[in-house]
Amino acid sequence: MVEFYYQCNDCNKRYQRDEVRYLCPACGQKTKPGYPLQGVLSVRFDYDSIRQRFKSDRTDWSCFYAIEDRYFPPYPVGNTPFAKVESLGKDLGFTNVWVKNDGLNPSGSLKDRASQLLVAEANRLDEKSIVTASTGNAACSLAAAAAAAGKRAIILVPHTAPQEKLVQMLIHGAQVIPIKGTYDDAFRLSLEFTQSYGGLNRNTAYHPLTIEGKKTVGLEIWAQNNFTVPDVIVVPVGDGVIISGVFKAFEDLKKAGLTDRLPRLVCVQAESSAAVHHFITTGEFRRAAPASIADSISVSVPSNIFMASRAVHESGGFSLTVNENDILAGQSLLARRTGIFAEPSAAATVAALAKIRDTKSVDADDQIVLLVTGHGLKDVRSAKLNLLIPDAVEPNMEAINAMLTAQK
Ligand SMILES: [Zn+2]
Repeated sequence: MVEFYYQCNDCNKRYQRDEVRYLCPACGQKTKPGYPLQGVLSVRFDYDSIRQRFKSDRTDWSCFYAIEDRYFPPYPVGNTPFAKVESLGKDLGFTNVWVKNDGLNPSGSLKDRASQLLVAEANRLDEKSIVTASTGNAACSLAAAAAAAGKRAIILVPHTAPQEKLVQMLIHGAQVIPIKGTYDDAFRLSLEFTQSYGGLNRNTAYHPLTIEGKKTVGLEIWAQNNFTVPDVIVVPVGDGVIISGVFKAFEDLKKAGLTDRLPRLVCVQAESSAAVHHFITTGEFRRAAPASIADSISVSVPSNIFMASRAVHESGGFSLTVNENDILAGQSLLARRTGIFAEPSAAATVAALAKIRDTKSVDADDQIVLLVTGHGLKDVRSAKLNLLIPDAVEPNMEAINAMLTAQK
């Protein structure tokens, strides 16, 4: 670990490590109910130390972590596959498309990166319980990481979360509290919960280390890409923390003098739940309906909307939306062309790529990375919408032949 401090994204005030835990005390209290968070903190390192310590032939990632190695739980995450997907790229009119498959983290989503770091922080602070609101995946990953560390996970989740995700939380022994409301209701109640009962709150953006945890996917993409920066990274966006984390990775690398540019970040939202997209394109906040089949990115009040918007603008990227049919078509195309089964929100990146081709907003030979954030087995109900499971046939070749003929 190298020295770091927290800095408020709104007033720029600096805080020492244990001077503050969540938001900037001055700006955080300006957050109005039903509006995105004010006073979100960013970790700022001693970048000269990183420059001196980091060697690409023995990647010492600890200098990019705001916590000492000894606190990490026995819950390894990351090092997920990064591969070129020629066939998918060709189908969509591009020559250099890659996938970072973060659905292969232990709990099946990128959220493991943040949960691992927050559990490490709970170890450091000797907190016994960790509380989170979640659309599903953050809670699954917290349940798993907390189980590995012998901590108690307390989870507030919209009751509409896919059953597979609720099962995943429960199997790890988490205390699950389904809320008859939205993710935004769960978010608000989880803050009240930690204020009343204590514990460490893992809510995304509210705890600055969630952004740091998600950042590691960007560091890995850079390393797996032979320590070069791709031209474009396409990111599914709900509350805005993953795209902020990816941006932070490349911002840290640039500040440390290890790279000289940023990848263009493309924000993809579901048309039916597009508060971040609306903010990026108009500068105005408008609540969205949390109504998409892509449940992981269905958020009406995105907590980290301001940083997400900065990530897109400062990286020279852009934002777009995709509809429900496009998302399901993207899920099917990704599965058939690459062997990767992604959940709908992650498949939104494929739908986005088809749209990017039509608008010519990215060159056909640019290196494009699709960030697959969650595994498809987390939401079988959605994937089944476009599939027909065949009826069983009698156990003989005549029946099989009849079936093959009928399917022609
Ligand atoms: Zn502030």
